[in-house]
Amino acid sequence: MHSQLSPGVTQIATSKRDNAFLIDGDDGLTLIDVGWSKAPEALLDTIAALGRKPSDIRRVILTHAHPDHVQGAAELRRHTGAHILIHDADRAWLEAGRVPAEGRSGTIGRLIDHLPKLHWTPTTADGTVSDGEVVEGSDGLRVIHTPGHSPGHIVLLHEPSKTILMGDAAFNRGKLAIGPAALAADPDLRPGSLARIPQNLNAVGFAHGAPLTGSGAHSFQEFLQQFRSES
Ligand SMILES: [Zn+2]
Ligand SMILES: [Zn+2]
Repeated sequence: MHSQLSPGVTQIATSKRDNAFLIDGDDGLTLIDVGWSKAPEALLDTIAALGRKPSDIRRVILTHAHPDHVQGAAELRRHTGAHILIHDADRAWLEAGRVPAEGRSGTIGRLIDHLPKLHWTPTTADGTVSDGEVVEGSDGLRVIHTPGHSPGHIVLLHEPSKTILMGDAAFNRGKLAIGPAALAADPDLRPGSLARIPQNLNAVGFAHGAPLTGSGAHSFQEFLQQFRSES
């Protein structure tokens, strides 16, 4: 299932609980996150429904190296030839095929990472992205480093449409939330990271939860306000 979130930005459900985003740019398509191992099938079906071909996906930007975002990445690259990009601080996790013990601040988090279901094929990154960079060929996707959930977590601002793609920096499952601290690497860094997100947004996409536009985008900015005053 897919829907247009804003001009040039398509949201794709890769499972009932997970979303990826497709950006139509000046050099083909850029995919934000992949999903679990079954996600490539959903993504390739959507590409076909949009009248595009797999090789139109030129690059995949991963918001962070958690299994629900990266497990399908190696397979998707085989089908598309896309380059996989990630922030340097999460690169070792992507390449190791699992989240290390220091990647979760709480016991529950560390326990779940022992489950083979939460591991993935070790995946070499083709390159890294860093704070402030506009990703080449993406037609205006700016990287904002938002550490906390993971050390190399990023959100992406699609500048032409003023759309922010939040990854797991915030969730919108029923209500806006910052997510469980135990699953985050360094939960105390999260408020300062959210405070760095620019204002005047037209649309907000979440890896988990419903997107916000119009007055919803306004409520999101009010949600961010509390972190601006905390940090
Ligand atoms: Zn995550
Ligand atoms: Zn996630």
